[in-house]
Amino acid sequence: MDNCSNMKHILRYGTNAEQKYIEQIKNSFDLLAFNGNMLAYTPGAIAGFIMMHILKSKRSKGYFIDPITHAFQHDISTISSYSEKEKKIKIKKSVENLIEAYGEPIQSNINSEISVLPSHFNTPELKLEFCKNVINFQLNTIITELEKKGFMDYINNAALDISKLKPCFLIAPYFYLTTKPTDFKWLPLNCEFIKLTKSIANDQEVYAQLVVSKEILTNESFRNEILDEYTKVKPSGVLLWIDKFDDHDANISELNSFVEIIKKFTQNEIPIYNLYGGFFSTILTGFKNELGFELSGVGHALEYGESRAVVPVGGGIPTNKYYYYPLHNRLDYKDASTLLRSLGYFSVPPSDGAREYKKNICHCPTCMEVIQDDINNFSLFENTEFYDITLHGVKQKRSYASQDTKEICVLHYQYNKHKEFLEVEKRSLNDFISRLEKTNSDYAPHEPELSKQIDYLSNWSSVLKSLVGLK
Ligand SMILES: [Zn+2]
Repeated sequence: MDNCSNMKHILRYGTNAEQKYIEQIKNSFDLLAFNGNMLAYTPGAIAGFIMMHILKSKRSKGYFIDPITHAFQHDISTISSYSEKEKKIKIKKSVENLIEAYGEPIQSNINSEISVLPSHFNTPELKLEFCKNVINFQLNTIITELEKKGFMDYINNAALDISKLKPCFLIAPYFYLTTKPTDFKWLPLNCEFIKLTKSIANDQEVYAQLVVSKEILTNESFRNEILDEYTKVKPSGVLLWIDKFDDHDANISELNSFVEIIKKFTQNEIPIYNLYGGFFSTILTGFKNELGFELSGVGHALEYGESRAVVPVGGGIPTNKYYYYPLHNRLDYKDASTLLRSLGYFSVPPSDGAREYKKNICHCPTCMEVIQDDINNFSLFENTEFYDITLHGVKQKRSYASQDTKEICVLHYQYNKHKEFLEVEKRSLNDFISRLEKTNSDYAPHEPELSKQIDYLSNWSSVLKSLVGLK
């Protein structure tokens, strides 16, 4: 669809509590991603949000719904939680609602506490019906909810573009592929789901979500078989999710394998997106001429989610960190302040420190407001609330962010992410390579002071250099 092309920056909506942040940074991303279980759990809150912020947005913006069909193939415990009310462990309410929407063969198996297997899809009718249910959920949930609340008259009267109430594209049902024979059996079925969904989707584009383990990523024969099968069924686009794959932690061989996947789809003219990626992925969205391939987009959540594990389904939200722009990484406050101290930001008069910070580190609207003309205000990024946790019988204190700290960490993060995409538009690939090398040589001496490594900078630059034929 026209209004969804060139949407590179995907923001994943985590919880309804994030609405107040997304409203503030609504021009800092292109496409919103909703998880099916969230939508099934609170359709009203999400429908209202889409009406206010997508329908009314002047800038062409869209959304899509991840149907998270893989949720039903894992151990039942991964979709269960303890119900205080019923005093027992049961399927989460959000997932229960999804099961109702998707029907068979999910419903009867999960209700009998059996994980879904490829063999459960044993008739052509069952497969087709399942695809229909999964896309109807994506197409109709929002509109049905707005109709129920009586908003459709208002939308029609206000002459708002009703086509934007539909997702930008539909995602065919998908299951997680690993090198285990039982999991790999999903491959032909995943491809069949793509074909079937295309046959019933009318004018809507059908994307494939390709979810694989890290073993698949690095195993050439498994990887090639999957890529061959997916390119044959020609989805309109591919949304890639590699289990726990983090640009920052990946070694050179994993980064190269990741590139191989992008190349294959680009060569077959199928747009490919990395659903959970960091700055390395963002760089790959910008240089098709130089590299011969490109990522069409990259996603993350608000201040987390640059990588994600396939299970547990849903997962928690980690504590807030500070996004350290020159390193393109989230750091604990302690690491970030240690770096600023070592680099001399606190050894000069506080107003000079503030000026240098804005010049070299960040001058986003949040930092302008927080730092003002005193570098000591950087401490506002520190989590200062505490809770008690008992580990191995020993009581410990853990820090967490107050609402104010959370807000500035989240907004500063999103401004920085937006800036990364803007920089990719502006700068050359060689410029990025030399910046990565320079940052590495500037910061490597300080690595021993940090709780995490920064060797990803040299991994990224060497992979990029080999891709453009520089040694
Ligand atoms: Zn900032």
